[in-house]
Amino acid sequence: MRHLKRGLAQDARVEHNRTVRDTVEGILADIEARGDDAVRELSIRFDRWDRDSYRLTDAEIQACIDQLNPQDLRDIEFAQTQVRNFAQIQRASMTDVEVETLPGVVLGHRNIPLNAAGCYVPGGKYPLLASAHMSVITAKVAGVKRVATCAPPFNGAPAPAIVAAQAMAGADEIYCLGGIQAVAAIGLGTQSIAPVDILVGPGNAFVAEAKRQLFGRVGIDLFAGPTETLVIADEIGADGELCATDLLGQAEHGPDSPAILLTTSEKLARDTMAEIDRLLTILPTADHARKAWETYGEVIVADSDEEMLQIADEIASEHVQVMTRDPDYFLANMTNYGALFLGPRTNVAYGDKVIGTNHTLPTKKAARYTGGLWVGKFLKTCTYQRVTSDAASAMIGEYCSRLCALEGFAGHGEQANVRVRRYGGRNVPY
Ligand code: NAD
Repeated sequence: MRHLKRGLAQDARVEHNRTVRDTVEGILADIEARGDDAVRELSIRFDRWDRDSYRLTDAEIQACIDQLNPQDLRDIEFAQTQVRNFAQIQRASMTDVEVETLPGVVLGHRNIPLNAAGCYVPGGKYPLLASAHMSVITAKVAGVKRVATCAPPFNGAPAPAIVAAQAMAGADEIYCLGGIQAVAAIGLGTQSIAPVDILVGPGNAFVAEAKRQLFGRVGIDLFAGPTETLVIADEIGADGELCATDLLGQAEHGPDSPAILLTTSEKLARDTMAEIDRLLTILPTADHARKAWETYGEVIVADSDEEMLQIADEIASEHVQVMTRDPDYFLANMTNYGALFLGPRTNVAYGDKVIGTNHTLPTKKAARYTGGLWVGKFLKTCTYQRVTSDAASAMIGEYCSRLCALEGFAGHGEQANVRVRRYGGRNVPY
C-alpha cells in the first residue's frame, strides 16, 4: 500500500477537536444556567438571528411552503415517500417477542417508541432539507409522539425548503435555531422549550460535539459530524471522472470533510487526481471542496481487493462507494462503514437526498460500533418476564438463591428463597 496523496496530520486534527470541545463545554454550561436568555444571545452571536420566540408559527410555516414551486414540493414529497417506505419496512422487521424458555418461564420484549425526539437539520452552509426527511419521518414511523425540529436561519431567515420539508415530514414543533444553542435548548429544555428524550440528526463539528457532551442527560442517535467519503475503485468498475465527481461531491460539504480514494490502479488514481484538478476550476462550490480536498483528501494505492478491504475497515468511513469488478465482495466482507453504495449506477448523493436509506450516518470511526439513524434508534427494546407455575418459580428460585450466595447478596437471595419456600415448600440454606 502506498499514498499518492496524504491528508492532514493527526496532531492537527486533535488540536481542532480540543478547540471545538472547549467551546461547546462553555456554551452548554451557559445555556444550562440561563436558559432562553443564553440561547437568544448565542443565536445573535453566531447567526445574527434575534427573535422573542424561535418557534415558527403556523402562518410562518405556510409562508415558507408557499415560496416553493409545485415541482420543488413534488420532489420533496417523492423523497419523503422513499424514506417513509423504507423506514416502515424496517419498523415491521422489529417485532416484539414473547417466548416460553422453560416450562412456566415466559420472557419477552416490547419495542416502545420514545415519547419526544429533537431532530436537528443542518443549515449553516447549505439548507440541508434532506435531513428533515431522515430524522422527522423516521421518528414518526417509529411512533414518537412529539417531534421537535430545528434548523439555523439561512441568509437571515428560516430556509423555506427546510421548513417545508420539516412540516411535510410531520414535525410537531419547528424552531429556527442553529448550532450548539439549538441542540442544547431542545436537549436540556429552557423556560420556553420542553426537553426531548433523544437528540438526532447530523451537523457540523460543534453540533456533533454538543450532542456528544449532552449524552446521558438526553439520548443521542450517534456521532454524526462532518461528512466523510471513501471511494473504493478499480479500472473495471470506474474511471477518473466518476471517482473525481464522487469525491468532490462530498468534499463540497465543507473544509473538514475527508474524501479518500482507495484503488488497486495507479493509473485510475492519477486520472482521478487530474480530473479533480480540472473540476475544481469549474465547480461552483469549489471553495469548500478545494479546502477539504487539499486538507483531508487522500489517495491510496493498494495491492489487492483484500488489502483494500482491510484499509477500508480501518478507516471506517461514513460513506463508502464501491466501484470495483466485484462490489459484492465488499458487501459480504466489510464490517466498518456507515452506508455502502454498490456499483457505478448509484452514489452517495442518491442516498443523501432521495433513494430512501437514511443519510444520518456515523463519522470519526463511530462506524466501528454503530450504523446510521433508523427507526430502531427511536425505540427502546424493553424486556419483561412472567413465571406461570409454582414449580417454575421454585426451580428458578433455587438456582437464584445459590447464585446470590456466591455473590454475597443475602437480600437478593432471600427474595428468591421466600418464593422457593412459598411455591416449592422447601428452603435453600444461605
Ligand atoms: P450546521 O447547521 O451543522 O451548523 C451551523 C451552526 O453552527 C450555525 O447555526 C452556528 O450557530 C454554529 N456555528 C458556526 N460557527 C460556530 C462557532 N465558531 N462556534 C460555535 N458555533 C458555531 O451547518 P453547517 O455548518 O453547514 O454543517 C453541516 C454539517 O453537517 C456538515 O459538516 C456536513 O458534512 C454535516 N452532515 C453530516 C451528515 C452525517 O450523517 N454525518 C449528514 C449530512 C450533513
